[in-house]
Amino acid sequence: MKKIVTIGEVLVEIMAEERGNGFLEPITLVGPFPSGAPAIFIDQVAKLGQPCGIISAVGPDDFGTVNVERLKADGVDVSAIAVIPDAVTGSAFVRYREDGNRNFIFNIRQSACGQVSLDQGAEKMLREADHLHVMGSSLFSDNIVTLIRAAIGQVKEKGGTVSFDPNIRKEMLDFPGMREALVHIFENADIFLPSGEELFLFTEAKEEEAAIAEILTRGTKAVVIKRGAEGASYFDTSGETRVPAFAVEEIDPTGAGDSFGATFVTFWLRGVSPEDALLMANASGARAVGVKGPMSGTSTGAELQDFIERHKGIRA
Ligand code: ADP
Repeated sequence: MKKIVTIGEVLVEIMAEERGNGFLEPITLVGPFPSGAPAIFIDQVAKLGQPCGIISAVGPDDFGTVNVERLKADGVDVSAIAVIPDAVTGSAFVRYREDGNRNFIFNIRQSACGQVSLDQGAEKMLREADHLHVMGSSLFSDNIVTLIRAAIGQVKEKGGTVSFDPNIRKEMLDFPGMREALVHIFENADIFLPSGEELFLFTEAKEEEAAIAEILTRGTKAVVIKRGAEGASYFDTSGETRVPAFAVEEIDPTGAGDSFGATFVTFWLRGVSPEDALLMANASGARAVGVKGPMSGTSTGAELQDFIERHKGIRA
């Protein structure tokens, strides 16, 4: 089986129990929950029984241990998660506002995972990788940008494949060198997995159809559009395959896109049809939005099958 590797932030999320505006008054917080978009992605891959690993870094603290132990227990190869002395594990404090938007306080750029480098563990992991998944959210330090560029080169040189989920916060586009880094990843991606406006990040086109037509002539083999409660679509040169979402109550959207992407990429690498891969990925996303906690909604193959059975005929 092909080994899937990702690179990026491992952090803990600490959540406010009550909705409200920011963190200016004392509130009850719950956590730490293991998190980080690439960490959620790779945990979902592991739960499907696919060989996989993550290149990252944590500090020598409990927040790091919480993550590493969780990923290890679920089957992720954690040998390339460096423990950096004198650094702390990344964290994100999250509070929902009444309008459903969220306030965040991040400690990521200054944290251990900002210092990740191409050390021996990372070198070994990349030698073993058949597929590399990259997330835009990870491009928050020069170290990581350099590492991702090197990783893409190595994986592509030996005939491996690359997937790219832009997963980007708008303010990141202003970081020096960010646009160039994103374009380089995009141009090397075999599968591009945008949601919403991210489809238009690398094209002048204004309409979905034109954007996809352009992207597919630039070397990308497939575009997978995540459409939230509307489900998802797969596009290649033979057209669109669209699969509706499952009807579920949205409790916490964190991790849905990461779980969806992990499930789609895993089944795509196994040679499953786009329709079946989307069905599994939609089930994975739906299970993730239905529970609180970023990594609480990752699913085994059996859980996905069971979910699909129970929701037959009641898709949105
Ligand atoms: P992202 O988090 O990357 O923006 P989406 O919000 O589109 O991605 O979620 C990814 C996938 O998770 C969707 O394509 C869908 O399969 C599933 N999903 C997300 N939100 C819902 C929802 N409210 N109901 C059912 N499925 C959902």
